[in-house]
Amino acid sequence: MSQDQNKNSQVFEGMANIGKGMATVMKHFGRKPVTLEYPEVMPDLSTRFHGRLALLTKSDGTDLCIGCKACAKVCPCNDLIQIEMHRDEDKKPVIDQFTIDKGRCIFCGNCTEVCPVDCIKMLPDFELSGYSREELVLDKHDLTLTGEESDEWRQIRGMNPHVE
Ligand code: SF4
Ligand code: SF4
Repeated sequence: MSQDQNKNSQVFEGMANIGKGMATVMKHFGRKPVTLEYPEVMPDLSTRFHGRLALLTKSDGTDLCIGCKACAKVCPCNDLIQIEMHRDEDKKPVIDQFTIDKGRCIFCGNCTEVCPVDCIKMLPDFELSGYSREELVLDKHDLTLTGEESDEWRQIRGMNPHVE
């Protein structure tokens, strides 16, 4: 092949590649964007999204957790969930302490599945970062939803929202 023929074939190859690129651009032209301008626009996540863990309460905002520790036992990350409880004079459980180290959580959802009273659940919230390890340890106050929030969580998922 002469030098001129070689140059011509390179030019044709280049033009063919430009054509392919333009065809790809045209194929996507007019399509709705698949990206979001986060954080101004938040994604519409599934109600089954494995995000932040939370403790649901009864409709009146009192503790739903019975302190059985099934969630802590099933958790594959040792000692990630810490629970301290006692029983009052009527033998009712009182949760003194409930902490979750979200920095070590792998969001497997095991804890949510074993809970006998549907107390520990996940929220569609993925903004979980912090500036220190200590900040990632959530206590009972951080974890607990209000009665109203708990009712809303249950209602959205087709459960009986009112729990006494
Ligand atoms: S989601 Fe999994 S890793 Fe996280 S606390 Fe629950 S059981 Fe443990
Ligand atoms: S499994 Fe449910 S009821 Fe039992 S300690 Fe965990 S959150 Fe409380």
